[in-house]
Amino acid sequence: RKLDENNEPVLAETPSTGETAGAATTFRDLGLEDPRLLQAVASQGFEKPTLVQSKAIPLVLDGHDVLAKAKTGSGKTAAYVLPLLQAILRRKKTSSESYIAALIVVPTRELADQVAKSIDSFSAFAAKEIQTVKLSDKVSDAVQKALLSNTPDIVVATPSRAWKCIESGALSVEKLTHLVLDEADLLLQYGYNEDLQSITGSIPKNIQTTLMSATLTTEVDTLKGTFCRSPTVLDLEEPDA
Ligand code: ADP
Ligand code: MG
Repeated sequence: RKLDENNEPVLAETPSTGETAGAATTFRDLGLEDPRLLQAVASQGFEKPTLVQSKAIPLVLDGHDVLAKAKTGSGKTAAYVLPLLQAILRRKKTSSESYIAALIVVPTRELADQVAKSIDSFSAFAAKEIQTVKLSDKVSDAVQKALLSNTPDIVVATPSRAWKCIESGALSVEKLTHLVLDEADLLLQYGYNEDLQSITGSIPKNIQTTLMSATLTTEVDTLKGTFCRSPTVLDLEEPDA
């Protein structure tokens, strides 16, 4: 029988309970297999996935639509960016065709900056394969058009910018495979519903959609109905740190 340093018997480790029971403990366990992504995750000091990451990443990798509600700071960005990057990298192994594969819609310019930076750091070890463009009303339409004509893989924008560029033909969405609505609750609070409806009317119907939100309001539920086929809803309460 094993004894600890106080000569007390050591009990068999109690199985973990609650939210984390059975959760994968590494990003690799979640199905993120691309070494370039794992390297980027490690270089950012992420030791293990957060709850929303461990729940959402396998689902998104599997092609499911996901609506995840988890509080601010719980790691929702990586939860949608990492599986998206893996899908693009996987596709690029077998095809050299280039097209805009993902549109990430966010409520503010500041968030667009943050998300684009985050994508750049997650794709730092695959920088040649992944091109990301952030649309902003700080740059001229001509510059934006030029950026988009280089056919990035991922576009990050507010709904108004995204729709303007789709409408003008500068942003071609015919081949879009992934749509992300980040901070979905704020997108609606900020009055972007009309732009969002226009966007959904112009993109492929069989697109994979991820909705991220800090709250699950009835409005977010409506968005879910508009944008998702049969989404898996993750209503997560992170245990207090
Ligand atoms: P949310 O979108 O849910 O508000 P973010 O994606 O912005 O949260 O992440 C919040 C912070 O947590 C960021 O600084 C991010 O780098 C950090 N973070 C995310 N995932 C992890 C992780 N698995 N390990 C350590 N830090 C993480
Ligand atoms: Mg966020």
